[in-house]
Amino acid sequence: MHNQKIIIAVDGHSSCGKSTLSKQLASRLKYKYIDTGAMYRAVTLYALRNNLITSNEVEKHKLIRELENIEITFEYNPNSNNSDTFLNGENVENEIRRMQVSENVSHVATIKEVRQAMVILQQHMGVDGGIVMDGRDIGTVVFPQAELKVFLTASAQVRAKRRFDEMKEKGEEIPFETILKNVEKRDFIDSNREESPLLKAPDAIVLDNSNLTREQQLNQVLNWVTEILKNTNAKNDN
Ligand code: C5P
Repeated sequence: MHNQKIIIAVDGHSSCGKSTLSKQLASRLKYKYIDTGAMYRAVTLYALRNNLITSNEVEKHKLIRELENIEITFEYNPNSNNSDTFLNGENVENEIRRMQVSENVSHVATIKEVRQAMVILQQHMGVDGGIVMDGRDIGTVVFPQAELKVFLTASAQVRAKRRFDEMKEKGEEIPFETILKNVEKRDFIDSNREESPLLKAPDAIVLDNSNLTREQQLNQVLNWVTEILKNTNAKNDN
């Protein structure tokens, strides 16, 4: 019996619970979890701090030149039982979730050179399999060979309400309408950009979690994983 470790790609719209699902999957399967949105957020934070974004305009050429000075790493945090995102050695996990970063990240993520640099890092992180990676282009560009591709979605209203509750819990009170607009705007930019737009891979399974609990969605995906592992192990045994 071979115990092969597969690659699980989780793509989908903003704020539909990709990271929640991916973290749960990684923890149950003892896989690595990589949040690729955090990487684009860290680049955005770097750009904001270095005045490369003014009134939503990104100084694209300057940012591309700065890419070699941006190091993004993840480190396990035993307190939260998750990985924290580090930008040039500094823990920026909280800062990259703030509204100012959310408002600018989709613009930064349209830049081809930024995407190329992130994709190389992501592919490197997944070389050994045993990984759950979430993002927008994981099943289409980063790991087109992933054994399981999930395309997660939920209505914009449901997603904005979840994000609203999450931010309120953290003490950041943003009006619901502002969050809804941000979610819809990011959907639009992500789906319509030229470079690696958010697209469902032809072999991805769509999971609409508008009416599912976290437990239900996790169990559904774990069933798919079990099925795939059964098939790959059977193939390897023949
Ligand atoms: O997943 P999250 O919402 O944190 O991602 C932040 C932004 O980063 C997205 O709105 C999207 O513009 C961009 N992104 C991307 N490709 C990925 C992951 C995120 O373009 N693989």
